[in-house]
Amino acid sequence: METDVLIIGMGPAGLQAAIHAARKKVRVTVVGKESGSALVGTHIENYFGTPGVIGGEQLLSNGVKQAESFGAVMVRQNVSSLMKDGDGFKAVLESGDTVSCRAVILATGISRKKLGVPGEKEFLGKGVSYCASCDCNFYKGVPVMIVGNESEAAESAVLMTKYASEVYWSAEKADIDASLAAKVKDAGVRMLEGFPAEILAEDGKVSSAVMKDGRGVAVRGVFIELGGRSSADLAMDLDIMPEMDDTIKVDRNCKSELDGVYACGDVTGRPWQVAKAVGEGNIAGMAAAEKVKK
Ligand SMILES: Cc1cc2nc3c(=O)[nH]c(=O)nc-3n(C[C@H](O)[C@H](O)[C@H](O)COP(=O)(O)OP(=O)(O)OC[C@H]3O[C@@H](n4cnc5c(N)ncnc54)[C@H](O)[C@@H]3O)c2cc1C
Repeated sequence: METDVLIIGMGPAGLQAAIHAARKKVRVTVVGKESGSALVGTHIENYFGTPGVIGGEQLLSNGVKQAESFGAVMVRQNVSSLMKDGDGFKAVLESGDTVSCRAVILATGISRKKLGVPGEKEFLGKGVSYCASCDCNFYKGVPVMIVGNESEAAESAVLMTKYASEVYWSAEKADIDASLAAKVKDAGVRMLEGFPAEILAEDGKVSSAVMKDGRGVAVRGVFIELGGRSSADLAMDLDIMPEMDDTIKVDRNCKSELDGVYACGDVTGRPWQVAKAVGEGNIAGMAAAEKVKK
């Protein structure tokens, strides 16, 4: 598939970028899932023009319809990798399909989402990790668990089968493309229903995960991979170095250090608010559209 502006992320930043870029009459494709937005399950009462309380899902659904009405195309998948491709860029999706574009906008929200269970913070770096591709080597020949519902978790589970003695994938509701699901099955990953409620350790190192139904699973590593591949990882695919907190540095035009790559929303840093996300989405969308029109 080919497009002019590829927007990665279907939250308020990505959708606002899509609205502004599409109105400049360039081809716009948004890849992501509304379900992955931080807005899901929230009630917003501090966003301009929405007196009272508006549900996050309602805002997202309105935003998708609005962006589509200006011609933006929605592709409900996660991006697995991103690369330079001639004068433009190429994204590989979880299905293996590719999208070629001339400018790309990263609107992937905050990376490295937390599970929020006892043991997660305490044993970070001692068996708890947020990045299988970074830490896989430390878990050779031992059992591990990957936690998450989406492509990032599935891809990490497949990767870890090359290192660990046993790989469990703990998912509440797996939401991945059929071809990726087949890869998970072929790799011999063992599925576990639900997320862990606690991570336990012996001698300061992770020894097991306790599932919500009370089952204990003996593992030496717990990889928490909630959502799509992080913006930091996607940026690094393009040799853009993320900041220490995994945010992407941009200038006043939401332009990153690499020509043709823009970022907006939570991914560029605080405040983590819809107003800031859509403000930057506006700037990034217009800047990317102007760039491809030149
Ligand atoms: C509990 C809670 C309450 C909140 N309350 C408020 C409030 O009252 N007021 C307010 O203004 N803000 C509030 N926020 C913050 C607000 O939700 C965020 O600031 C806003 O959603 C950020 O928008 P975004 O588009 O940058 O990121 P998100 O909305 O997080 O969207 C990120 C998008 O990127 C996608 N994505 C991620 N990785 C990939 C990948 N590899 N490939 C493709 N797509 C990918 C996700 O699926 C998602 O579609 C709240 C947040 C939370 C968690």
